[in-house]
Amino acid sequence: MQKTIILGAGLSGVSLAYFTRKTSPIIFEKTGVSGGRVESIIENNHSIETGAQFFSIDEPNLVALLNKIKLDSQLAPLKLDPFSVLHEGKLIAFKNKQFSKDFSEESKELKRFYNLTDELLSKAYTEEDFPKELIQKDFVSWYKNSVGDKALWLLESVIYAITFSRASKQSALYGLTVCETFFQTCYTLKNGMRTLISKLLQESKAQLKTDAKATKIVIDDGKAVSLSINEKGKIQEIETSNQNIASGLPAPEILKIISDGKLRKELSKIEYNGCAVHVFETPKQMLGNDAGILVTDAGLKPSVILNEPNYFNFSSNKGIIGVLVPYKDRNDYSKEDVILALDLIVPNIGKKLKEIKTSYWDYGLPVHNYGLVKVQEKLAEMEYENFHLVGDYLGLPSLDACVESAKKASLKIMRGK
Ligand SMILES: Cc1cc2nc3c(=O)[nH]c(=O)nc-3n(C[C@H](O)[C@H](O)[C@H](O)COP(=O)(O)OP(=O)(O)OC[C@H]3O[C@@H](n4cnc5c(N)ncnc54)[C@H](O)[C@@H]3O)c2cc1C
Repeated sequence: MQKTIILGAGLSGVSLAYFTRKTSPIIFEKTGVSGGRVESIIENNHSIETGAQFFSIDEPNLVALLNKIKLDSQLAPLKLDPFSVLHEGKLIAFKNKQFSKDFSEESKELKRFYNLTDELLSKAYTEEDFPKELIQKDFVSWYKNSVGDKALWLLESVIYAITFSRASKQSALYGLTVCETFFQTCYTLKNGMRTLISKLLQESKAQLKTDAKATKIVIDDGKAVSLSINEKGKIQEIETSNQNIASGLPAPEILKIISDGKLRKELSKIEYNGCAVHVFETPKQMLGNDAGILVTDAGLKPSVILNEPNYFNFSSNKGIIGVLVPYKDRNDYSKEDVILALDLIVPNIGKKLKEIKTSYWDYGLPVHNYGLVKVQEKLAEMEYENFHLVGDYLGLPSLDACVESAKKASLKIMRGK
């Protein structure tokens, strides 16, 4: 039976390995580890996520997969509400989906927004009367038109924190989906999101080759004919005419190695935003009890501060603070901004921080706008006999989109067997 060759050991690639496990898949991964943007570090027996943090129980593809590989028993609810927002230099508490009484107008507006979100998203998922303006309009103009402008700053902050991009750049549909997840109970995995990657690799029995970077894919006449791999400095050319190849790489990474002009044109239109995630240790827990998660104003850096002892029920006296800083370009930001924002919350905290780890994600998430939807339509029309794309840029960017795209690609691959 033909093998499936998969490029990239992120969630998209390893999900595809799982769905095509009957074909003895082989995965080439350029770094020394699997997981890609799913990355957990273990401190004091607790896991801290420096990549993907959480998901919604309503994400159908991801949740079905968790059930299938028996990780459903590992689901851990993550209540992000209450949290605090650093807005115009002041820390404002937010609890049970509303502000304190000083902000009653904002709270009323948010209530209208939550109701509208439920109604619109249920239409979007059932596809009856799907309001097209949700993908044609950006979140900010849609919100101003349909809801108001008093509480917009909070939603802009949440969207910026979760998507690393301004709400005015994202489709209304993506903004609504992100807010719906954030304001509901979210879920993570008890022993870290990485468990998902490890279990999929184990169940798929895929052969994982690390330090093996794909450097060229030649497509000829609608067919992938060769693949070059640089494995620990040794170049190998693989003849692929009789095998299925799938890319689980972010779009800008495939663009670097694929020869096909039509595909290159579409992939080059996909815009990404990045972020850095800092993990700091403090001598004791330094943020207040309400500070499970803090979101700063969309314009401010950083955008998310996770007070890990609360966030993950740490039983340690020490504090662990995770800070997420969106950027367009890695040269755009400095660590001083992070310290300044933390100092606004707890004076002089900056001096007490010990850095444990920083992860940089230059391709953090693709922007979901009408342009991306058009690219997705074009990509869906392009059929290659033995070449497949999987990744978050093929749906509403999220872990669920990775699994959904892997499932779709696996159906084509298995049908061809
Ligand atoms: C900080 C952060 C927080 C996030 N939080 C959430 C969240 O809470 N919920 C959510 O749903 N989503 C979240 N996301 C998004 C989510 O992590 C991604 O959508 C998902 O992990 C993408 O998986 P992927 O397999 O498509 O790509 P990746 O995880 O990027 O995997 C691609 C893999 O390909 C490898 N690779 C690249 N080039 C080559 C090459 N030439 N040859 C071989 N291998 C190569 C890379 O090393 C990598 O391992 C977050 C993202 C970030 C960065």
